[in-house]
Amino acid sequence: MGKVTGFLELDREIEPYRDVEIRIKDYDEIFTGIHDSEKLQQQGARCMDCGVPFCQSADGCPVDNLIPEWNDLVYNDSWRDALERLHKTNNFPEFTGRVCPAPCEGACVLGMNNPAVTIKNIEQSIVDKGFDEGWISPRKVSDYSGKKVAIVGSGPAGLAAADELNQMGHSVAVYERSDRIGGLLMYGIPNMKLGKDVVNRRIDLLRSEGVEFITNANIGRDLMVEELRTKFDAIVFTTGSTKARDLPAENREAKGIYPAMEYLKENYKSLLDHGDVNKDQFSAKNKDVVVIGGGDTGTDCIGTALRQGAKSIVNFELMNKPPLDRAEKNPWPEWPIIYRVDYGHEEATSVYGKDPRRYQLLTKSFIKDKEGNVSGIKTVNVEFENGQLNEITNTEKIWDTQLVLLSMGFVSPEHYLSDDAEIELDERGNYKAEYGNFCTSKQGIFCAGDCRRGQSLVVWAINEGRGVAKSVDSYLETL
Ligand SMILES: Cc1cc2nc3c(=O)[nH]c(=O)nc-3n(C[C@H](O)[C@H](O)[C@H](O)COP(=O)(O)OP(=O)(O)OC[C@H]3O[C@@H](n4cnc5c(N)ncnc54)[C@H](O)[C@@H]3O)c2cc1C
Ligand code: SF4
Repeated sequence: MGKVTGFLELDREIEPYRDVEIRIKDYDEIFTGIHDSEKLQQQGARCMDCGVPFCQSADGCPVDNLIPEWNDLVYNDSWRDALERLHKTNNFPEFTGRVCPAPCEGACVLGMNNPAVTIKNIEQSIVDKGFDEGWISPRKVSDYSGKKVAIVGSGPAGLAAADELNQMGHSVAVYERSDRIGGLLMYGIPNMKLGKDVVNRRIDLLRSEGVEFITNANIGRDLMVEELRTKFDAIVFTTGSTKARDLPAENREAKGIYPAMEYLKENYKSLLDHGDVNKDQFSAKNKDVVVIGGGDTGTDCIGTALRQGAKSIVNFELMNKPPLDRAEKNPWPEWPIIYRVDYGHEEATSVYGKDPRRYQLLTKSFIKDKEGNVSGIKTVNVEFENGQLNEITNTEKIWDTQLVLLSMGFVSPEHYLSDDAEIELDERGNYKAEYGNFCTSKQGIFCAGDCRRGQSLVVWAINEGRGVAKSVDSYLETL
């Protein structure tokens, strides 16, 4: 283990983000890019190497990262060995080290009565150092099996499956309907949280290792599944959960109301294509912006609108404000449901003088002007009683707005691909397959990631991508 008494002597210290005043002027990563090796070694020394490392299993890390092992290696200044251990369980630690909410830290044993080990910071530092030092280079595959696999969708699930299957010696082609590879890593999670150079660096690595990428290929529309079946021995669907939940209130059709993903994609595609975010209808400049719904997507809308120069930003949440500490019915090692201040909230508080979140608000209707543009929202306060939502009388309020972003999650994958492939859906409308074997109702077609499990996290997409690769490999052996 790290330092035997490290957890008693050393305090948790997380790496700070760039100063708010500076970072809101650009779309670069919020991270400083500076990893202080000595400080990180001290943080690694806080790991107790407890008998049952909950951080790496059960409620902790979904890819079972070997956390106590690499904490110890970092403490002992063995960064390259730490990198090797990290890559054994995680194909893309540079993604999770930046964007993972870190359930591992929620399950850290030290976290029962002390601040948890800074696991996520250490993970990011190990892999960033690996790239900086040139320790990560293409692992060429020398012996191919002759079997071919098509992967549809290039998010983290598709990329993890492609990486694993290629290293197993199968020829892999990844089909993506968008013009860039990466799924929500590319168009979804903003540049501030995950630089697109970081995403492209890994894609280039996979390409040089033998994975083929085909963009602008919409399977089920431009190219049908039947055609893929004639060319490939197995097909994996990793198409994500892309059908956004809508808010069918009065005047929903007003101009200026967009699903969050449409707003984010338009802006970040424009930034990548032209070096600047969208200046037209997707610009928040000088507008009163209302973001309806929270989570990562809501925060990303806040961070983006603020950088575009929004006049004001308010974020409606239907639920109660979470407690500052774990509630009794949310004990360790469960994921702590507590009040958190993410990067966008911190930035909005700094710019507008107040946290943008307003809780227990239900949108009753939108208001539009004579030209059909959204000009306001009518809300009512709500409270929850025995799980039942009740409106509170005389609490109706009108909010001025010229741009509304709907960030209320995703319902399921779209169904044109499953219709074309004639595979079954589960009761939630996701592609139906058991976790573990990932087989759809059609032999030779598999699915993984958000299109199977529903809207989730990058780390779970990587977990499922690795899992589906094992299942496909076993299937290919039977052919
Ligand atoms: C705005 C936003 C912010 C987020 N922030 C975080 C975060 O901070 N941390 C975190 O852990 N998670 C975050 N998430 C969730 C995370 O991004 C997803 O859980 C994860 O990307 C799912 O991976 P996936 O590979 O299953 O699907 P996706 O990443 O959704 O990729 C699916 C890909 O399939 C393509 N596709 C779909 N249909 C077809 C077709 N018929 N033919 C060809 N291609 C197709 C899509 O274009 C897409 O590129 C965020 C999500 C959003 C929307
Ligand atoms: S992938 Fe997420 S849960 Fe796993 S060690 Fe990294 S931050 Fe923790």
